[in-house]
Amino acid sequence: MSDCLFCGIIDGSVKANVVYQNDQIVAFKDINPKAPVHVLIIPRKHIVGVLDVAVADGALIAEIFQVAARLARELRIADSGFRVVVNSGPDSGQSVFHLHYHLLGGRQMDWPPG
Ligand code: AMP
Ligand code: ZN
Repeated sequence: MSDCLFCGIIDGSVKANVVYQNDQIVAFKDINPKAPVHVLIIPRKHIVGVLDVAVADGALIAEIFQVAARLARELRIADSGFRVVVNSGPDSGQSVFHLHYHLLGGRQMDWPPG
């Protein structure tokens, strides 16, 4: 999608601090971090959000969680704990409409989330 910010990160036209990538997935540091570790994990495929995930995307979604686990270990938040969050729609505050998973950790978090 030409007007999608995260597609711009994937194609290199928008700069990002990439921490992991493979043929299907890119992970980069959030520009406005909400925790000491705050990484966004996105599919290279432009999926708008949770409401648009198809059954055929199942292996891709599983791989995103495997990348989240790998990064949690590498960034040393696997033992202390972390969150993987996907916002959807106005009440959640979703601001970018390319599916992305927030990996957050490195501090105590509140429940329920604000
Ligand atoms: P959401 O509000 O769930 O849609 O999350 C979008 C996230 O993208 C926010 O946490 C932003 O800080 C982050 N963000 C926006 N632009 C960039 C960028 N150019 N590089 C990295 N993260 C970004
Ligand atoms: Zn996109």
